[in-house]
Amino acid sequence: MGNLYTVATPIGNLEDITFRAINILKEVNLIACEDTRHTLKLLNHYDISKPLISYHQHSKVSKIDHLIEELKAGKDIAIVTDAGTPGISDPGQVLISKAVEKGIRVIPIPGPSAVIAALSAAGVPTDAFIFLGFLPLKKGRKRIIESFKDEKRTIVLYESPHRIEKLLGELKDVLEDRKIVVARELTKMFEEIIRGTVSEVQERLKIIKGEFVVIVSAK
Ligand code: SAM
Repeated sequence: MGNLYTVATPIGNLEDITFRAINILKEVNLIACEDTRHTLKLLNHYDISKPLISYHQHSKVSKIDHLIEELKAGKDIAIVTDAGTPGISDPGQVLISKAVEKGIRVIPIPGPSAVIAALSAAGVPTDAFIFLGFLPLKKGRKRIIESFKDEKRTIVLYESPHRIEKLLGELKDVLEDRKIVVARELTKMFEEIIRGTVSEVQERLKIIKGEFVVIVSAK
C-alpha cells in the first residue's frame, strides 16, 4: 500500500512552504488537489512536474474511490488544498477520512494554516481556543453565536467576504463591546489585522475583499 501525505501549502505567500513539503511533492507518484490551475501555480514556482488529479467535495464518489485504489496499488499520493493544511475546513477531509477507514497510512507534512497564522498574531490568549471553521448558514447559527457570550476560550472562525459584514453585525448584537480580531488576506500583499471591539472593527474594516479569519476573545 502507498502512503497518503497531507501536505500543507501556502495560504498566500508562495514562500511559506517547508523543504520537506517540496521534497514530498517531488517524490510522490501523483498529487490530489482541489483546483488544478491553483496547484499548478505553486508547482511551477518550485519547478515540480507531477500528475495532478482534482478531487472535490462534490466530485463523484468514484474520484475518491479511484485515488483509494491507486493508494492500495502502492502509489504514494500527496493531497493538497487550495490553501493551507489539508483537512482543516476544506474538501480534503473526504479523501483523508476514507484513507484512514481503509487502513492506509496517512502522514502529515505540517505547514501553514490560516487558523494558526491568525492566532499567532492576534495578541489574545491562545492557551485554550476553539476552532469552529465556517459557521452554519442557518440551522444552529444563532444558538452558536449566543453561546459565545459565556465562552471562556478564544473562538476562531473562518468567513467569506460575502458574509463578513453580516457576521460582524450578528457578533455585535450578542457581544456588544467584546474584543475581536479580524485577520484579512494573511501573508498576502493586502494583509490587514484589525483589533478592537466589534463596533471599532466594523468601522475600521473598509475593504470587504479577500479571505478572513475572525477571532473572538473569551469572556
Ligand atoms: N485548509 C485551510 C487552512 O488550513 O487554513 C482553510 C481552507 S478554508 C476552505 C478557506 C478559508 O480559510 C477562507 O475562507 C478564510 O476564512 C481562511 N483563509 C485561507 N487563507 C487565508 C488568508 N490568507 N488570510 C485569511 N484567511 C484565510
